[in-house]
This record gives sequence, structure tokens and C-alpha cells, in this order.
Amino acid sequence: KTVCVTGAAGFVASHLVKLLLQQGYYVKASVRSLNNPSKTEHLLKLDGAKKRLHLFEADLLEEGSFDAAIDGCDGVFHTASPFFSTVTDPQKELIEPALKGTLNVLGSCSKSPSVKRVVVTSSLAAVVFNARPKTPEVVVDETWFSDPELSKAMKLWYMLSKTLAEDAAWKFAEEKGLDLVTINPAMVIGPLLQSTLNTSAETIANLLNGSETYPNSSLGWVNVKDVAKAHVQAFEIPSANGRYCLVESIAHYSELVKILRKLYPASKLPEKCADDNVFSPVTFQVSKVKAKSLGIDYITLEQSIKETAESLKEKNFVK
Ligand code: NDP
Repeated sequence: KTVCVTGAAGFVASHLVKLLLQQGYYVKASVRSLNNPSKTEHLLKLDGAKKRLHLFEADLLEEGSFDAAIDGCDGVFHTASPFFSTVTDPQKELIEPALKGTLNVLGSCSKSPSVKRVVVTSSLAAVVFNARPKTPEVVVDETWFSDPELSKAMKLWYMLSKTLAEDAAWKFAEEKGLDLVTINPAMVIGPLLQSTLNTSAETIANLLNGSETYPNSSLGWVNVKDVAKAHVQAFEIPSANGRYCLVESIAHYSELVKILRKLYPASKLPEKCADDNVFSPVTFQVSKVKAKSLGIDYITLEQSIKETAESLKEKNFVK
């Protein structure tokens, strides 16, 4: 079978491409530029890449840009979307590429009759961020939707970009009769295949690089290998449908520091909690029922943190 992966150079997508090649797929992978070896070398080195990986150039903001990569594919995995926390022009840098890019990719899918299913990488950011109270007893599930007005009010632009993009994807799929599934992961950590540092792995690098404080927030965490597997399963299992939240556990940063301290007692880890609380420090739960139906039996948070730290050290992102 032939599948397309958009944004293939990224942290999550690189693992997805690796898994697809391992499973015998022919992969048409889009990257922003074919002339930037730091974004493609790691992909070209993967097992099976020589015979079954074909790279394409595509930009989220260019209409029709994904046509060639998507044409003739049985399935499409749309992962490309900017993920940064500091931006100067949120509309240009985050919202437009996420939203227009998703519609652009889905537009190419609807033009290609070979495409049976599209799996879009959304986020837990498009699920949990609303006014509903969160307490350790509350169980969030796939029926929850983030409120874009809240992201706007709090200037959480990445959150807003993912919420608007997923919403637009469902509307488009409904209108055009596309078989769409979304994967909604929490903060993704684990080993890096790519040579650049991505935003979610950077959170662990910051702790290990001796930042003074750790954020006063509780976030969900999941291993990148489980995220890649969920994408493939969501394409392969005929009955898969709707959204799939992926969270091994919701943990406060203090918990992460505790795990890192146990693993690396000599590391200079932050001792103090910051005053900020952009995301609530209160934990809650996220249902694992739907993820289980994809065969996901989560890698533990401790193991994921260990794999991330080892990888960050090996790649010199940690001093
Ligand atoms: P990365 O930054 O590693 O990957 C993002 C990818 O999107 C890169 O390949 C990037 O290309 C591409 N991209 C960005 N802007 C454009 C553009 N204008 N045109 C074409 N490609 C573009 O992040 P992740 O791997 O972490 O994220 C992958 C997906 O997973 C995203 O949709 C993200 O929102 C989602 N996600 C990630 C989570 C996480 O914690 N990591 C959690 C939940 C969801 P380039 O390398 O050239 O910049």
C-alpha cells in the first residue's frame, strides 16, 4: 500500500515514517524543502527508505502543493503544522499554516479517488481547553472540545491553531464525504530521530539544562512511538473512527523533575516551582478507552522521560 505523510521531517512524523517503512508501506513523504539535508538525512537513512521512501516538496500555505504527494495514495497522514510557543505574528506563523494547510491537504485528498482514509494529527490542545472544571476525579474524553474563545482570550495561539484546524477538518470531511480520523496526543516525548530540537522535547531539555524553576503546570504526556503506532492503527483498523486522545498520564512538572532526579542524580535540575500557571497545576484524567481499541498499551512516563533524556544527551541538546 502507498501512503502519504505530510511534514515528514518532524519529530512525530519521522517515527511514523519509520514505522510505516518497517511495516512494508511505500511512503510518499512531504518536506518543506528538499535542499535542506538536516531535514531529510535522517529519513533517507531509515530501513526500507532506499526502495520505498519518496520525498516531495510541499508548503502548507501553497494551494495544490500536496497534490503530487497525495495522488495515488491509499491513505494520508497529515501531521505538518507549526508547533512553537514564541511567535511574533501568531496569525501568519501559526493559525494560517495550521488552518489553511489542513484545508489545503484535505482538498488534495478529496481530489484523489485512491484515498480511502485521512488521519490528521490534531492535539489534546483541541480537546481539553475549555471552561469545564478539571479536578483529579474528572475524566476527559473524546466528546470534549476546546473553546477557541478561551485560547484567544489567553493568547494561547498554538492551542487556538490546533482547535481551529481540527474543527475545519471535521466540517470539510463531512461536506466532502472524506473518511477522517484524528489523533489527539498530549505532549509527545521519547527519542528524537531528527537532528533539530522540537518544542515538546525541548521542555525536557530545559529541565536538564538547569532552568531555575519548573513550570507550575500539569500536562499530559505520551511516548512518540505510541503516537506513531496509533496513527498506523487508525488507518489500518476499518472500524476506527472519530477522535483518539493519547495520554499516558497527566503529570505536574514537579513529577517530571522527581523522575529525572532519580534517573540522573548528578544533574542540575530546577528546585523551585515557577509562579506562572498558564496551564492549570491541577491534574485530571483522560480516558484510555478509545486508545485501547487501537491496541495502545502505553509506554510508562518514566520510560518515556528516560528515552527522551538519553536521546537529548546523545544529540548534544543537553550540556
Ligand atoms: P515538529 O516541529 O517536529 O514538526 C512539525 C512539522 O510541520 C515539521 O516537519 C515542519 O516542517 C512542518 N511544517 C510547519 N510549517 C510548515 C509549512 N508552512 N509547510 C510545510 N510544513 C510545515 O513538531 P511535532 O512533530 O511535535 O508535531 C507534529 C504534529 O503533531 C503537529 O501537527 C503538532 O501540532 C502535533 N502534535 C504534537 C505534539 C507534541 O507534543 N509534539 C502534541 C500534540 C500534537 P519544517 O521541519 O520544515 O519546519
